[in-house]
Amino acid sequence: KLDFHPSGRHFLQIPGPSPVPDRILRAMSLPTIDHRGPEFGALGLELLAKVKKVFKTEHPVIIYPASGTGAWEAALANTMSPGDQVLMFETGHFATLWQKMALRLSLVPEFIGLPGYEGWRQGVQADMIQERLNNDPEHAIKAVCVVHNETSTGVTSDIAAVRRAIDATGHPALLIVDTISGLASADYRHDEWGVDVTVSGSQKGLMLPPGISFNALSPKAIEVSQHAKLPRSFWAWDEILEANQRGYWPYTPSTNLLYGLNEALDMLLDEGIDHVLARHQRWAAGVRTAVEAWGLEVQCQDPALYSPVLTGVVMPEGVDADEIRKIIYERFDLSLGMGLGKAKGKMFRIGHLGDCNDLTLIATLGGCEAGMKLAGVNLQGSGVTAALDYFANNPLSTGTSE
Ligand code: PLP
Repeated sequence: KLDFHPSGRHFLQIPGPSPVPDRILRAMSLPTIDHRGPEFGALGLELLAKVKKVFKTEHPVIIYPASGTGAWEAALANTMSPGDQVLMFETGHFATLWQKMALRLSLVPEFIGLPGYEGWRQGVQADMIQERLNNDPEHAIKAVCVVHNETSTGVTSDIAAVRRAIDATGHPALLIVDTISGLASADYRHDEWGVDVTVSGSQKGLMLPPGISFNALSPKAIEVSQHAKLPRSFWAWDEILEANQRGYWPYTPSTNLLYGLNEALDMLLDEGIDHVLARHQRWAAGVRTAVEAWGLEVQCQDPALYSPVLTGVVMPEGVDADEIRKIIYERFDLSLGMGLGKAKGKMFRIGHLGDCNDLTLIATLGGCEAGMKLAGVNLQGSGVTAALDYFANNPLSTGTSE
């Protein structure tokens, strides 16, 4: 319960769902149409073509009426057979959940990673993947599954390096990547990085509500799916690919979310994806400037892997991050992400993905700073002032969106 009657907009600064722009909300409010009629077919063809540009792929992108978890399952169910070994890397909570899913699907996941909570402060170690594949001369491992932007930590792994590691071994395993929280806020290149299946979702960088999710495919993934034996029906690519050729789906799609997706794609493509990504890099740098001025640590310990999507702020020993989040929510109507799994209570997460601007982030940092002070956290200086200076002195050089 809030201390006051909330007015103005709630600050939704969790790392997804992210705030939905009014333009998208308006697009989604249009009347639902016949999903087998000509108007819908034209919309389907248009958005299936446009969505490829966000994934940076020439190949098909499947859209499911499901949250990201559904698209995780789809990626495995379409490419794997019961008992198949999959190599997964423990970057954080979401990598851990995906590994549990693999077990439930009767796969045999091997979960490698750096030890303990500290391991959650680093990214995927491509050399460990390379070493493991080198020790698999029989090619028992059928897929390497990694999370690109680990939403529980704010570490963005180097997917091109994972591809190079796989190629260096000559191993035929598929590369399956979760960029549920990375897409359209962090640099992502499905084709260039040689990813076989990319999994993503709507409620993060795409600025949509939760409810649709994606599998971007490679020709090799499509070929493998023709022989893979895990049971699948709702998730089966073949029928969807067939219907998609005419802009339709084999079952009722999320019509109004697709209106929203079409609008979101127009917004992203009109601005230019690379400009959108530059905005997010800049916001992340401003937020990290604030964390540094507070005298606190960012969860990610590898500067090359700082996430442009979210920043994990580690609390000093003995401070319960969830207590701080509670104060910030109750006093300032601001939602922050909680520490998950091994990071529970140790840190909170500031989302700077999707539809933000400099001042929403300054207000967010203001809520964090005030909340930490109220809780008695010893701050070295003002993160808000530091971030304001950062934003003022570092305009986005490429464009007009500020
Ligand atoms: N993977 C990552 C990296 C995520 O951030 C999330 C959700 O936050 C998921 C998977 C699960 O997606 P969903 O909650 O949409 O099912």
